[in-house]
Amino acid sequence: MSAALRSPGAGFSPAPRIATIGVSEILRITAKAGALKRAGRPMIVLGAGEPDFDTPEPIKNAAIRAIGAGATKYTALDGSPELKEAVRRKFSRENGLVFTQDEVTCGAGAKQILYNAFMATLAEGDEVVIPTPYWTSYSDIVTIAGGRPVLLPCGAEAGFRLQPAQLEAAITPRTRWLLLNSPSNPSGAGYRAEDLAALAAVIRRHPQVWVMSDDMYEHIVYDGFRFATFAAVAPDLTERTLTVNGVSKAYAMTGWRIGYGGGPSALIKAMAVVQSQATSCPCSVSQAAAIAALDGPQDVVAERRMAFQRRRDLVVQGLNAVPGLDCPVPDGAFYTFASCAGLIGTRTPEGRVIGSDRDVADYLLDADVAVVPGSCFGLEPFFRISYATSDEELRVALARIAQACSALVAPVRA
Ligand code: PMP
Repeated sequence: MSAALRSPGAGFSPAPRIATIGVSEILRITAKAGALKRAGRPMIVLGAGEPDFDTPEPIKNAAIRAIGAGATKYTALDGSPELKEAVRRKFSRENGLVFTQDEVTCGAGAKQILYNAFMATLAEGDEVVIPTPYWTSYSDIVTIAGGRPVLLPCGAEAGFRLQPAQLEAAITPRTRWLLLNSPSNPSGAGYRAEDLAALAAVIRRHPQVWVMSDDMYEHIVYDGFRFATFAAVAPDLTERTLTVNGVSKAYAMTGWRIGYGGGPSALIKAMAVVQSQATSCPCSVSQAAAIAALDGPQDVVAERRMAFQRRRDLVVQGLNAVPGLDCPVPDGAFYTFASCAGLIGTRTPEGRVIGSDRDVADYLLDADVAVVPGSCFGLEPFFRISYATSDEELRVALARIAQACSALVAPVRA
């Protein structure tokens, strides 16, 4: 039968575990922006969650050498002993966390580590506390694993940070995990050691609750922000903490797919069971590259951090100069999360009412700038800009945003 005659999925119904998971709004906007760009529009897409820099040469060369040396076979299930040693050194050197080899696991990106952990631990209906705004995959992975995401709004007034009393009030006998992400995608907010200590005091009172600390943006911090990770701040809780990290953001290695975690060996072992039936070992060549990244010179990380900081300042200043927008200064990552509350209720020159942050994103798309509405991350009305792109593109995008916003017509106030 020709493809044109085939019915698109007659008789197909998705498994209940994925039936409620919609196509991501981020993908919808990125696809629309991509289509407009291909149609010849000078679209600037500020949606990407990856550094625009290339993977540093020494890391690429380590991978090429590994291919030459025949490192093209399966490795140990959740990472070669050599990679696990490099991860152990990293945790000890940079975070003061001491793990044995069976307390370390490596997978195809931090995403697989998170997935393994939830699949390995959640029973139907178990709850996972997720401060919002949050990286959308968190709630979807929890749902696929049969758990229930408990989303706690952490607005700009709280610095986008979970407050201890809020955590205390959300914990039930079914709470299995608290998921922390610092610096945060999408807000860029970071938790200082004292913020984490205050949350640890709550966690200590609830022995059924474990903490997953997603440290993906550890190295991308600004203004001397001192990165802190939960297990280091609360060493007595290491038996209930999984520390998650990866090479994607720090070393511009998103496509290599290497992430890792450190935590209690019983948890790590259960996570390996999940991975063994999903993907087996992470790519052998990428593992060699990750060892070079973790053990190699780190100056490139600092250089890129400076470039990101310059761009952050450019974007924060540019957005705050626009009436109707309010952009807090992020501590880290490569995103700004600006409030567009001041635009809600205005009208476009064509008379369309701006009723939500989705409308703002659609309106900016018409002005050839793609941003992601805050509703995608569980907090409205905001939009996320990824500034992992050139200063020049950012300047043009900011000018377009300012121009488009100034063309909005304010409602007549009574
Ligand atoms: N955590 C956060 C907060 C992220 O933003 C991302 C990537 N967007 C990941 C984890 C996953 O990264 P990776 O799978 O590439 O290691």
